[in-house]
Amino acid sequence: MKIRHRITNKLFAWYFLLVLIFYGTILVFYVNVQKIMSISEDIVNKNYKISSSSKKMIEDLLNMEENEQKYRILKKKNYLDYFINAQKDFETNLNEILQLKSNETLISKDWIELDNSYRKFLNSLKDTKEADSSELLWVPEEMINEWIQRISKARLQNEHDVELATRELNHQGQMTVKSGLIGLGVSIIMGLLGSIFLTRSMILPIRELQKGIKSIAKESLSEQIRIRSKDEFGELAAAFNEMTFRLKEEERMRSDFISMLSHETRTPLTSIRESVNMIVEEVMGPINDRQRKFLEISSSEIGRICDLMNHLIQVSRLESGVIKIQPYPLDPSILVSKCRYHLKPLAESNDITVKIEMSKDIPLVMGDPENLQQVILNLMGNAIKFSPRGGRVLVRVEPDENIQMLRVSISDNGPGIPEEEQSFIFNKYYRAKNVRKHSDGVGLGLSISKHIIEAHNGTIWVKSALGHGSTFEVRLPIA
Ligand code: ADP
Repeated sequence: MKIRHRITNKLFAWYFLLVLIFYGTILVFYVNVQKIMSISEDIVNKNYKISSSSKKMIEDLLNMEENEQKYRILKKKNYLDYFINAQKDFETNLNEILQLKSNETLISKDWIELDNSYRKFLNSLKDTKEADSSELLWVPEEMINEWIQRISKARLQNEHDVELATRELNHQGQMTVKSGLIGLGVSIIMGLLGSIFLTRSMILPIRELQKGIKSIAKESLSEQIRIRSKDEFGELAAAFNEMTFRLKEEERMRSDFISMLSHETRTPLTSIRESVNMIVEEVMGPINDRQRKFLEISSSEIGRICDLMNHLIQVSRLESGVIKIQPYPLDPSILVSKCRYHLKPLAESNDITVKIEMSKDIPLVMGDPENLQQVILNLMGNAIKFSPRGGRVLVRVEPDENIQMLRVSISDNGPGIPEEEQSFIFNKYYRAKNVRKHSDGVGLGLSISKHIIEAHNGTIWVKSALGHGSTFEVRLPIA
């Protein structure tokens, strides 16, 4: 499988998007702040300047007018000096305002008109002076009034400009806050969506893999897992599926081999056992006690091998579904009593007490008597086998009305099963570490029992603690 969208690429795309939003917001912020700065610079450098200079100019004009009149009446030189100073001040302020224009700042055309009018007046004054060479400073009152009017108009215009600029400043400020909030909101939403998407795209395949691995741990085989993403997880899923396919193939080959071996050896073993039995029964002639003893040992060992072969064949048939369960209503008390009867010699030889507790009015269960008997025999047999001498086995049969099931529990005071091994004991050939010293048993009984109970739509599980005995519980559907 070819990886198309690597996880790192997805993560990179996500980070890239977040960084893009972040820097986009910063850029908008920067542009807005620049605008705010330029507007405030305009207000400080131009409008305030015009405002203060124009105020002084009006004062200068009024001073000029006043001092001229005083000089005319009193003929004191001081007033002439005051007049000249006021005039100079007026010119300086006018020049400063006109200077703004040369700095490429827009100024009202009233200032230019005022300047023209003032220069024109000065020129006309020069001509007059030259004509009558007097010290006449005369600025007609109408002229002064006209200039004051012009300055007031320009001042008004300037105040209006300040108001507009302040409004623009406010607007830009709001825009900056808005764009900042939008950037923040978008990055939070994208961050959340991205993390949800990325987490989902990682968690789902991990869960799927976990399921597959768990099912391998539980049943030793797993179904193929479905991960459709084209990233590393997809590749991992493909590798996992390949592994389960190979495991299944190997399991199938092993089962086939064991089944073939069991079938092939069962017939010769049966005839060997029959022959040995016939010799023991002296059909071929008399034998001595020593010969009988060895032949009986051989017969019992051959019997054990035959049982093992039968179990192996049964497992392979149950797994392949060849054995079909044919359930019909059964009385569970008869089933349990029969099992106790069969196991009586084993229990007595180990000095084990088997107690059966049946609640009243036990309902019938749906089951196949032979197969269910095998399960109960196996569970009771294990309980007796693993209990210490003088131990006690308790079989309890009671209905579970809530779920329409019959509960059969078999408890012992044997060694118990370590918790970490409890999920494995229903697997084929598994034997818990603490009881492997028991020579009899190959770890097939519980696997067969589980298959049989599940084929009855029932359940089987164990509750146990190391050193505190075990309780196996079977639930079967009520008829
Ligand atoms: P076998 O008894 O032939 O070993 P089983 O499939 O019946 O095989 O049991 C599998 C394993 O489960 C046993 O080897 C043992 O470790 C554990 N086990 C089963 N029943 C008991 C029990 N009553 N007490 C303790 N361990 C048990």
